[in-house]
Amino acid sequence: MQGTARQRLDARIGHGNSWTALRLDGVIDEHNGLDALTGALGPARAVLLIDLIGVRRINSVGVRDWVVWLRGLRQIYPTIVLFDCPPAIMNEVNLVRNFAEGAVITTFRAPYYCDRCGQESVQTLDALEMLASGIRKAPAFPCDKPACANALDDAEETYFAFFDDLGEVPRPADLGALVAAARTALDAATTHAAAPIPAAASALNLKGAEARLAKAGLPAGAPVSPVARAEGRQDVVFVAILVVMLGILGTLVYLITTLE
Ligand SMILES: [Zn+2]
Repeated sequence: MQGTARQRLDARIGHGNSWTALRLDGVIDEHNGLDALTGALGPARAVLLIDLIGVRRINSVGVRDWVVWLRGLRQIYPTIVLFDCPPAIMNEVNLVRNFAEGAVITTFRAPYYCDRCGQESVQTLDALEMLASGIRKAPAFPCDKPACANALDDAEETYFAFFDDLGEVPRPADLGALVAAARTALDAATTHAAAPIPAAASALNLKGAEARLAKAGLPAGAPVSPVARAEGRQDVVFVAILVVMLGILGTLVYLITTLE
């Protein structure tokens, strides 16, 4: 089932005896439909595993909705596991204190960069392994070219800041096997689009939502909303047209005066 045109977040759901798995793909913004997903997850089980690898972007409204949604899920699922978290998610985990509150983060993705040849890549790291080793250092990855090496393209103390909270969260002993089973089930599952979106959020609604977010004390560090960006583009086009028209007017005045 495909989502509506506005729906930009798709979901897949899988089940085991003691767990439910959910994979989110797309953009978490004002059209996220997360609320409607809770019911689609089926009867509550001991563990909810959420695969976030497909999340490309999350904006400030998305962050607010996510925090509220996760808080609700914690009332239903004793253990919540987030895995394969992409940089867009990790930036929020490290910025917004309660973004992953009470959840176990296992694998996460980190941006890498090679100083020598400029190659950019994204590597998967295991938070629990790194936490157990006690070393908060990004491992080096080989580059495509010989004698090159990729290094973390972010400050280690910032990108791994979430380790502090992660150490306090209880986790199931068989976590590795659970994540592996969830991956298999999700790969086999069909895409299940979240519920249809209510009336389109107008620019006014969006601004109101962001104002409420600011009032709630949540950072608005997420990317500029598409609406705000479109408004900015309209301003640029307007100025460009004005400049061109003034140029034509100036040329006409010049021609008229020189012809006489
Ligand atoms: Zn290189």
